[in-house]
Parts: sequence; structure tokens; C-alpha cells
Amino acid sequence: MNAKFDLVVIGAGPGGYVAAIRAAQLGQRVALVEREEKLGGTCLRVGCIPSKALIESSRIFEMISSGLADHGLSVAGAGLDMRALMQRKERVVEQLTSGVAKLISKNGVTVFNGQGRLKDPKTVLVAGEDGESELVAENILLATGSATVELNQLPFDGERIVTSTEALAFEEVPKRLLVVGAGAIGLELAQVWQRLGARVTVVEMLPQIAPFADKLMARLLLRILKDKGIEFHLGARVEAAMIEGGSVRVSLADDGGKTSEIDCDRVLVAVGRRAYTEDLGLSKVGVALDERGRVIIDDEFKTSLGSLRAIGDLVAGPMLAHRAMEEGLAVAESLAGLTVKREIDIVPAVVYTHPELAMVGKTEEHCKSEGLDYTSGRFYFKANGRALTTGDAEGAVKLLAEKNGGKILGVHILGPSASELIAEATLAMKLGATADDLARTVHAHPTLSEAIKEAAQAACGRAIHA
Ligand SMILES: Cc1cc2nc3c(=O)[nH]c(=O)nc-3n(C[C@H](O)[C@H](O)[C@H](O)COP(=O)(O)OP(=O)(O)OC[C@H]3O[C@@H](n4cnc5c(N)ncnc54)[C@H](O)[C@@H]3O)c2cc1C
Repeated sequence: MNAKFDLVVIGAGPGGYVAAIRAAQLGQRVALVEREEKLGGTCLRVGCIPSKALIESSRIFEMISSGLADHGLSVAGAGLDMRALMQRKERVVEQLTSGVAKLISKNGVTVFNGQGRLKDPKTVLVAGEDGESELVAENILLATGSATVELNQLPFDGERIVTSTEALAFEEVPKRLLVVGAGAIGLELAQVWQRLGARVTVVEMLPQIAPFADKLMARLLLRILKDKGIEFHLGARVEAAMIEGGSVRVSLADDGGKTSEIDCDRVLVAVGRRAYTEDLGLSKVGVALDERGRVIIDDEFKTSLGSLRAIGDLVAGPMLAHRAMEEGLAVAESLAGLTVKREIDIVPAVVYTHPELAMVGKTEEHCKSEGLDYTSGRFYFKANGRALTTGDAEGAVKLLAEKNGGKILGVHILGPSASELIAEATLAMKLGATADDLARTVHAHPTLSEAIKEAAQAACGRAIHA
């Protein structure tokens, strides 16, 4: 089949499908190419959504097994039905991926199911089940996302040494799980399986968990996760792994050269993700990549070939679904000639452990290394009325701002509902608010959000409850 479009999007993840819908709304004829049957990309199929479904189920299990005594409540015989738990996760994924398919169809986007490959800067070949299609377009958007990084010393076998995709679908709780990498994915899945009964050890090459986070907040989270029973080896490198019978023996070396061994049943390797460009034909058409294999773009998302644009995990920047979506919108609107200025530099990030760690803007380490004249205000949830009423009062808010109640530079929240609370800080930063503005904003009482106001008051030197 041969067809002509205004825009062909390759990859139906959060970046690609959002771009396709918005471009179609703006009157473009759009084709969306996706090799998987389900639309929604890594995020909906094997990322954000299934991981959060398991996080919720395992958190409820933990609460009814051991977390209600403080409220004077008890539940007899808390049981775990892994099949039902996984089926619920699948139902959530199904609901969202089929919802995306409906939206795509409602907006008149034509979907081509198959592997997309560039023939030239204006033509995409799609190898589908019914043969090959040739799609010609004025503009092509690359949104093929990312894939898990593999370690030479821990090659994936899909059974004992696995990626997050398999770790989201274990049929049984592993007795001993080793997680390599203490980034968001590693920490979230470590906590899921620890709550469900696994003995979990996390190994991280760097001296800090969540290495992108503010040091203080990462340290607080580490202490809490250790108290919950997760074991950590920081500043440790995996040297080798040997599969013996049903288990894996992993050799570690720390920064001082001290070696140790860990025996486990399964190893989850979560050391990062890399841009996915396989079989896309980029080198053939001459799209330039950076030293890490990511597509190089300018500030209008244009690659080295002007008619080709790229967004999301495929290009440099935080590998986050909401960033990809925002970039998809920006590309669609600029192609339609809208001159909406989109600043995608204030991007919140969340680690969905319990407590959650959410952040936006600079860390204190950034402020120091940039030589900024800043001040920091802190407020602990143990002094927040709402957090105490819910029995969920671990963690703190830290707000960094220019001195004397000036512009907010960064907000870091470790605590209950941090993933929701961070939106207030993100909006404040987007609107260029000051610490004084936040400190003078009336917040409902008793709410968790008062902790942000209190941190702002502290940054202005007028803390009340601390
Ligand atoms: C376990 C896990 C948990 C995560 N949790 C979060 C979270 O809580 N919050 C968050 O913001 N982010 C999270 N992420 C990251 C998030 O999933 C990604 O940042 C996001 O999906 C990137 O979107 P994208 O559109 O760039 O690419 P993707 O979502 O990766 O989509 C790319 C799509 O392109 C398709 N494709 C690739 N090559 C071709 C080709 N040649 N032809 C046709 N189709 C192709 C792929 O099949 C895929 O569907 C998580 C990731 C993982 C793995």
C-alpha cells in the first residue's frame, strides 16, 4: 500500500500518540506507526502504568498485613493471590491502551501496525503482517523511545536475570531478589517485591540512591527503605554473575576494592535506558546521533534533516512520559504554525516508593556548584497535622530559593502524596513565583500541602511550626 500524509509519527508511546492526536486535531493528515499491537508505548504497556498498579496492590497488602495496628485495626488472614494481582494490573493496562486506541481513531489518525523504517527523509516503510506499506509525508516524527541497558556481566536470560518488563510480571514472589541500580525503576520494583515478601538487596554503583535527587532527600529515603527491610550496597559494582541450578551468585566489588558475593533467585537489572534506534534506518538517511546514541535535535525538535523531528526518550533529557507528551504537543502545534511558546525546562520527576520522592528544579548540590546565592527552607511531615491523622508522616519538604524570599529554585518533597503535591511547586516555578508568594498563599487546613507553605515560610526566615 502507498499513502500520502502530512505527518507520519513512528512510535505510539506518550510522545508519539499525543503528537499524532494533536496534529490531527489541528487539521493534519496523520499516520501513526507502531510495531506493538497495543498503543501507549513503554509507559502504558510495561512502564509507568503497570508499575504503579503493582505499587498500589503491594502497598495495600503491606497495610493490611502489618500497617493498621497503629489505628487499632486488624484484618484476619491477609492473603496474596498473585494471579489476581497480576490480572488487575493487566486490566488497568488494557483499559488505558484501548482508551488510547479509541482516541486515535476518534481523531482520524490512521494506524499502521508494523516496524517502521526510513527509506528517505520523506518516506517511511512499514513492515506489517499484511506486507509492506510506503508512507510519504512532508514531515516525519521519530518517537521510538528507549530500551533497557544490558550489562555485559549480567546478560538477560528472561528468567533469572531480567529487565523491568519481566519483573512486572513475575508469577511468584522471588524468595531473594537482587536489584542492580537504585534509580526510580529499581527502587520502585525493589519495594513492590519486598512488600510482597521477597528478601530484597539493592546494589548501586554510586554512593547515593536516586542519584538525580537532592542529597538530603535521597539520604532520608535510604534510611526509610532500610528500616522497611531492604538491604543496600552503595558504591558497589557487579563484577560477575554465575547461574547455578535455581539461583544466581553475583560477585560485587566496592570502591575500596573489597569483594563480596550475594546469592539470589532473581536479578533485576535496572541501570538505565538507552535511546531505541534499531532498524530505523537513521544512518542510511543521515540522521546524526550523539555519543550516547540519542538523536540530536535543535530547539525546534528538528534533527540534522529538517523534515525529520524527534522527541521523548529518543533524545537527550529526562526519560519521563510527561516530558515526551509535552514535546509531542509542541511538535504538533509548531507544524500547524501555532507559535505557542513551550518551556519544557521545568519538569517534575517522581520516584513512587513509599514515601514518594518528588522533585522539580535545582537540587542544593546544583545551587552550590552554580555558585548561587540561595537559601533553603525545610519542613518535616511529622509536624503536619494531616500527615499525623493519616498515620503517614515520614519525610520532609525542602524548598530552595533566592535569598530574602526570592525566586523559587527547586522543591523536593519526600512524603505522602508527594507525586501530587509537586504540581503546586511546578506551577509556582512555571509562573516565576517567589518563596514569599508561596509563603503568603492560603492553604486549606489540615492538608499535606501546608508542608510546602511551611517550607516556603522557613526559606523566608519565618517558620511557624518548625
Ligand atoms: C518500569 C518503568 C517505569 C516507568 N515509570 C515511569 C513513571 O512513573 N513516570 C514517567 O514519567 N516515566 C516512567 N517511565 C519512563 C516512560 O515510560 C518513558 O519515559 C516514556 O514511555 C517515553 O515515551 P516515548 O514516547 O518517548 O517512548 P516509548 O513510550 O518507549 O514509546 C516508543 C514506541 O515506539 C515503538 N517503536 C520503536 N521502534 C519502532 C519502529 N521502528 N517502528 C514502529 N514502532 C516502533 C515502541 O514499540 C514503543 O511503543 C517508566 C519506564 C519504565 C521502563
